[in-house]
Amino acid sequence: MKCPKCKSPDLHPTKMEQGLSAMGCNECQGVFVSLLYYRDWAERSGIAAGIENVQAEEVKVEGAENTHAAMGCPKCSRIMTKYRISSGHDNRLDLCANCDEAWLDRGEWSLLKSLNLGAKMPTVFTEQWQRQVRQQVTEESRRQRFVGMLGEETITEADKVRQWIAKEPKRAEILQYLSYE
Ligand SMILES: [Zn+2]
Ligand SMILES: [Zn+2]
Repeated sequence: MKCPKCKSPDLHPTKMEQGLSAMGCNECQGVFVSLLYYRDWAERSGIAAGIENVQAEEVKVEGAENTHAAMGCPKCSRIMTKYRISSGHDNRLDLCANCDEAWLDRGEWSLLKSLNLGAKMPTVFTEQWQRQVRQQVTEESRRQRFVGMLGEETITEADKVRQWIAKEPKRAEILQYLSYE
């Protein structure tokens, strides 16, 4: 199997974690992991090892790389599908649904762990997760537009009011009162 990113180097057996084997590229440090192995590992040791509790500061995520170009699966050469990890990061995991294997660029495994996704990576591949990420991206860009108009300070205050209103049982009446001109 060749590296889908660097093209020519061969992938070699490597370990992402104790008990979690994958095929890695020595050049770009990316890994190709079988979700079958992954699920087995996550069930067996992931939760027990407490990887859910990995502190974000212990993990170096600055080095996380991100491939934007479409990549072919190293196994079956079909184009892999990209799944954005979170709205706060531009990184995308590549999945070959045909082989049920995923490609992670250098640092993306650490990134997943720092986001408490170490034991539940396949969540990222769900439609529900992707919808949520898209929604957050839209919300964040909307917020930025208003920050540009009104400034960060005003928007921070407005966010507090918004959170407060969201919790109030009579929010409809409050909004009615606020919109009075
Ligand atoms: Zn490579
Ligand atoms: Zn494949």
